[in-house]
Amino acid sequence: MQIQVNNFIAKRDNSFSLQFNFATATTDFLTGKMNYYTDINYTEIPKHQAYREDMYLLKDTYYWFNKMYDDAKKDGITLKIVSASRTFDEQKNLWEDKWKKNRSKFKTELETAKHIMQYNSMPGISRHHWGTEIDINSINDSYFKTEVGKKTYNWLTANAAKYGFCQTYDDIINRTGGYKEEKWHWSFYPISNTLLNLYNQKVNYTHIKGFSGAGSADEIDVIKNYVLAINNECAE
Ligand SMILES: [Zn+2]
Repeated sequence: MQIQVNNFIAKRDNSFSLQFNFATATTDFLTGKMNYYTDINYTEIPKHQAYREDMYLLKDTYYWFNKMYDDAKKDGITLKIVSASRTFDEQKNLWEDKWKKNRSKFKTELETAKHIMQYNSMPGISRHHWGTEIDINSINDSYFKTEVGKKTYNWLTANAAKYGFCQTYDDIINRTGGYKEEKWHWSFYPISNTLLNLYNQKVNYTHIKGFSGAGSADEIDVIKNYVLAINNECAE
């Protein structure tokens, strides 16, 4: 599949010239045990493109997001990043917060974990650990029902692939399961599709531990049923 990008032809997956060195994608990196402040692969997202300071992406992801941002702007669309890279500890904080709010509503840890995982990932299995994932404009479905939300989403579905982005969690009827649809979550697939393969080879349930309900990870088979349950277009 060939995609026209401005004045050159970018072939999906292998014509994005990347500076990321996949040899650095260790099990620690893949499970969020990295430090984007000190890791030279990362860059901070400038203030005008993000909802807060202190958000980081892999340099390649940012390079292509920035191109997409500029072209969207020309079409009257504003793309602003709500969330980007998250470490294991940051994902753990989000998870523990949800755990406290939900644990008493369910009989078992397994049911609690499954409930939270409709939208939220356990630490260690989030693609936000990889520096390739961005949440755009809002993480609420209601935004994508507004006029501006619909316009933004339509622009992304028509154009994002030219810049290497795909909607990771598309309509669940197209997938084998996993998280509900997230119209805001986009992935830089020239890197994330390889990281997914590396994750599948290297990470196992001995690496997914150290948080409330971690014992359910194996039982739910979160790698098969969540990590691998993505839009086919992101995995090609
Ligand atoms: Zn996301």
